[in-house]
Amino acid sequence: MDVLGLGADPVATDALVCSAKGCRSDARWGLLWNNPKLHAPARRKVWLACDDHREHLEQFLGARGFWKQTVGVDDLEHV
Ligand SMILES: [Zn+2]
Repeated sequence: MDVLGLGADPVATDALVCSAKGCRSDARWGLLWNNPKLHAPARRKVWLACDDHREHLEQFLGARGFWKQTVGVDDLEHV
């Protein structure tokens, strides 16, 4: 159930680890993004981020025009 209507891909609750390379910290944020060349406009891919990597990952996606929104990890749809 996508209660927020974010259209984000569900994330596994046993894998809430930061998406930054080499980082094994618990994720606290979900970065929602979309690559218009690959994904339907309403699709949202999710990267997870810890506090240390949230800004870095947002900038990475933002520089490519992919970043849409950052939400708390508790607001993501879990499977
Ligand atoms: Zn991290």
